[in-house]
Amino acid sequence: MKKNFLFFLILLIQPLFCQEKAQKNIILIIGDGMGVPQITAGMYKLKNQTALENFPIIGLSKTHSSNALITDSAAAGTAIACGEKTANGTLGISMRNQKLTSILELSKQKGYKTGIIATSTIVHATPAAFYANVISRNQYEDIALQLVNSDVDYFIGGGRKFFISRKDKRNLMKEMSDYDFVNSIKKFDESESNKIGYFTSSEDPYPIRNGRIPKLSLAVEKMLPKLSNTNNPYFLLVEASQIDWGGHKNDIDYVLSEFIDMNEAINKVLEFTKNDKNTIVIVTGDHETGGLAIISGRIRNFQMKTEFSTIGHSAAMIPVFAKGPHSEIFSGIYDNTDIFKKMFFVLNN
Ligand SMILES: [Zn+2]
Repeated sequence: MKKNFLFFLILLIQPLFCQEKAQKNIILIIGDGMGVPQITAGMYKLKNQTALENFPIIGLSKTHSSNALITDSAAAGTAIACGEKTANGTLGISMRNQKLTSILELSKQKGYKTGIIATSTIVHATPAAFYANVISRNQYEDIALQLVNSDVDYFIGGGRKFFISRKDKRNLMKEMSDYDFVNSIKKFDESESNKIGYFTSSEDPYPIRNGRIPKLSLAVEKMLPKLSNTNNPYFLLVEASQIDWGGHKNDIDYVLSEFIDMNEAINKVLEFTKNDKNTIVIVTGDHETGGLAIISGRIRNFQMKTEFSTIGHSAAMIPVFAKGPHSEIFSGIYDNTDIFKKMFFVLNN
């Protein structure tokens, strides 16, 4: 009798103790150099629609770095990845010269699987901010070395040469023996390894209009099943790197084609996570590039004439779009470092 009562009592109170909070998956998509003008021009180019309209929560981030009103991608990437404003050109190191820990590394400590996709080299400033700590973003070979022992499980991006044609003569692809290196998205898809590296090019990947493969949407489509096929939660960074490069060249067609490549990838992510209550999708930029403005146009076919005001970056605030669990905390105006803090909250709640 006593035994039965105890058993019943345990059954009754069990949910109070065993109700584990499900860990949230985080997908962060960064359009490098993507501010409101790039989104607006991209939207009109797509006949007045963009995947970003599916996001219920929008905020604005202040992008200045610790030493400049106009940030570069290294300081902005560090702010978003590690939560501290640092000097332009610096990756993952604070103004007090301390090594910072990124949200990707913190997620790994919590048992997450991790992935990075970039349309630049994998050692370029924005992706590198999530796994490297270097004083200068130009230390590409040092950044490559730091990827060897990083917490990145799967990566797709350019820059093979920084791993195999090095001043120190090391062959990092050989040293990364726990990775399965593949040379096509099909092989990436077929690989059953827990760690996969896919160098899409030796140097910078081509612009999408010059035939870059894979398309960002295809890379995302093949990456997401890898990350989500175990019981572990996951963190994925996707960078549409070349919106920025089009801005620096003041080439609107370059900007728009890269935006559309990213827009398709966002649609793919939203489709994949449609019935998934456990994944937050965040889309933002690191800064605006080109000081782009739409200065005239016609409503018919949404034709537009654009003008750039600089070949560099601008200080414009950058929108942050969020959808999924805890997305409401991304509304408002805040520093780019708060994007890290908000993802950190998601990681722990
Ligand atoms: Zn730039």
